[in-house]
Order: sequence, then structure tokens, then C-alpha cells
Amino acid sequence: MYRGHSGSTVRSHNRSLLLRLLLRHEPISRVELASITGLTMPTVHGLTKELMAEGIVEELGTTDPQGGGAGRRAALLGLIPGSWVSIGVDLGVQVIKIGVLDIKGEVLAKAELVQNSREKPDDVLNNVFEVLKDTVNSIDIDPGKIVGLGIGVPGLVDVSTGDVRRTPNLGWEDIPVGAWFQERLALPVILDNNIRAMTVGERMFGKGREQPNLISFYVGPGIGAGIMINDEIFRGVNDGAGEVGHTLIDPSGPVCRCGRRGCLEAVTSDTAIIRKVQEAAKAGRDKELRNLVFRALQQGGRNVTIADIVNWAEEGSLFCQTILEDAGRLLGEGVANLINLFNPGLIIVGGDLFTHSDFVFEELAAVAKAKAFSVPSKNVAVVKTGFGKEQGLVGAAALALWEFFYSSATSQTPIDYHKIEKRGWALH
Ligand SMILES: [Zn+2]
Repeated sequence: MYRGHSGSTVRSHNRSLLLRLLLRHEPISRVELASITGLTMPTVHGLTKELMAEGIVEELGTTDPQGGGAGRRAALLGLIPGSWVSIGVDLGVQVIKIGVLDIKGEVLAKAELVQNSREKPDDVLNNVFEVLKDTVNSIDIDPGKIVGLGIGVPGLVDVSTGDVRRTPNLGWEDIPVGAWFQERLALPVILDNNIRAMTVGERMFGKGREQPNLISFYVGPGIGAGIMINDEIFRGVNDGAGEVGHTLIDPSGPVCRCGRRGCLEAVTSDTAIIRKVQEAAKAGRDKELRNLVFRALQQGGRNVTIADIVNWAEEGSLFCQTILEDAGRLLGEGVANLINLFNPGLIIVGGDLFTHSDFVFEELAAVAKAKAFSVPSKNVAVVKTGFGKEQGLVGAAALALWEFFYSSATSQTPIDYHKIEKRGWALH
């Protein structure tokens, strides 16, 4: 709904503009804030006074006097760590991560829940809720300073209703996860696809701070992309944008979970890579590999992981090196397609394949740059996430903080955080 420009909307627009500048450019002076935004000095003074009174912004020190001591020192402003926080739930396929993030992107508390794929969604959510309450209560936080709960889901979602539509890797279908939490929390609940959430986290707190046109590319049991265009997440008509994992990479490749043949994720997701290694070991094609896989299986009866395969490649397994080189090349082709379609300034790559070594990432980045069309490839940087295994958690929590920093800048009805300030957060 378009709200027009009433005085209070303009004020709240300016307020969130200043908050975003503080987020990305602190420490920063009032003069700089005014010159970047074009706002008048009295407006900047009024708004920063308000933000300081609310305990969000503080003075950090002063600038050096201009002209070697003759000029006036200006106070430098910054966000106060821990002044506002959000809760994040990263609904991973194997591990669910739950944590508290502050307005500067610091993880203040976190916990993990190992997933049992046979558990019913309701039982999983109950477990998550218990851990969530313990995690929030483990730190000394005023409940009125929690901006909301963000939930990242590995699959298709309906952002407007908060429903999980389909998560092939979790096996959930049409589960009202957002409403489930909304019934139990006196907080705004924002649910989105996990990779889109990661994109939001990168834009606010990660390597995307300086780049409003960015794509995060994530490789896990599936493969997907979160697309941000001019500082807005692109979701498509019904939240289905970014399914790069189901673009064709090999017409004669294996059949994908989606029913078609040769999708990128059928050929080279974590699941596909692990399957290739296990099949090769079973068939005895590589004696050394067979021994490695056998030893891994003996250790507590666990399955082979991506970390194992990356380690074996690093330790000299030629079979694993070849598999990972192929993966890097194919993923690079997928990223080149994204570069050609969207002309982003930045691609941020994440997932287990990249956390343990740079082996696959380097191949991916080289192929992506070489294969993309010359004009869009000219100004794109391909980097690895700086969040490592916490990328999904930071992203999920960032969904709620995005509203805090951006809500009044959009045409959507902004959340009035002052209204929730005095409330407790957990109803049950
Ligand atoms: Zn597919």
C-alpha cells in the first residue's frame, strides 16, 4: 500500500536513511551525514538527538581538527552494540541454527539443534522454540529491544503468509511456520527462503555492504541464488526467483528431484558430489578412495561429508581432486549465467564446499569470470562469504533487522517498533 508522504513518513524515511549510513560508514560525523543525504544540519541534529536519546546511537570520539588544529572538532557517531537485537532461526536440513544478532551484525548468542529427518514439523518447531527461549534468556537483553524473529527456510515459501510451501530436503509441505511462531511470540515474524535471507545478511553486515546489486550463490544439498537489485530483494511473482539449481547444465545428466534431467543441482550439489564419491568407492574404481570412504564409515557409522571429500582432495586423492575441479567448473558456469542475466556488481559464494578450503572456490571464480559475457563480467567481483558456517544464521536474523533499517524506506506499512518496546517477547 502506498502511504503518500505525510510529515511523519518523511521523518521516518530520513531516520532510517541515517541508520543505514551509520551501519555502513560509522564512525561518521553529523556534517558527513548531512552532506551524503542532502538533509539540512538542523534535521540531522534533531534525528541524531532522537536516536541518542533512544540509546541506539552514541558519540565515539571526534574528528581530527581540519587544517592542522585551527578547525573545529566534529563528534563522530556510531551505533551502540547490543542496543537492539533480532532472533534468527536457520532451518538447515541437517542442523537448525538459532541465535541472537545485534544491530551491528554481532552474534550475541547461538545454539544448534541436530535434525532428525523423521520428526514431524510440529515436533521440530516445538524443539526449536524451546532452544530459542533458552538462547534468548542466556543473555541479558531487554525484551523490548528485540526487533523480531527472522526464519530462513531451505525451499519455497510464501513470504506474505509466512507459509513454508515445499522444502524437498526437509520433506515439509504447506506448513504455516510463520503463523506458528507468531502465535507464541509478541514480535514481528519474517520468513523467507534461506538464500534470500543470506543475501540480506551480506548486504547489511557482510561483504555486500557497499554493493546494492549483488547475488548470493549457495551450494548445499540444493543450489540457489538470492538476487538483490538496487537494494531490494527480487522474489519474483510468487517468491520463486533464484532457483538457479534447476537450470539446465547437462542435457544427458542425472534426473533431478524436480523430475527433469541435468539440472545444475542434480549434477553438482553436495548430495550429488557425495553420491559420486560413494558410488566410485563402492564400485572399487579407486582403491585409495575406497579405503578413505571405508575408514570414514567406520568412524561412528557416519556418512561421507563434503568436508571429508575436500580434505581428501587436499591430502592428494586424485579422484576427489577431479570431482571437485569438475564441481568448481560447473558451478562457475552456473554463476556465469547469473552474471549474464543480472549484471550484478558482486557474487557472494557460500556453502560447505567453500568453508574448508579455497580449492573449489578458485575454480568457480575463474570459470565464472572467463565464461560470462565480456560487459557484465568486467565489473563483477566473485568472493567467498566472510560468515563461513554462520551465513544462514546471520541471514535469518538479518531478515528482522532489515525491517529495522529499511522498513520506513519502502512503500510497505512500516512496523512501529515503539509499540512493541514495553512488551514481553515470549507468550508461552
Ligand atoms: Zn531440477
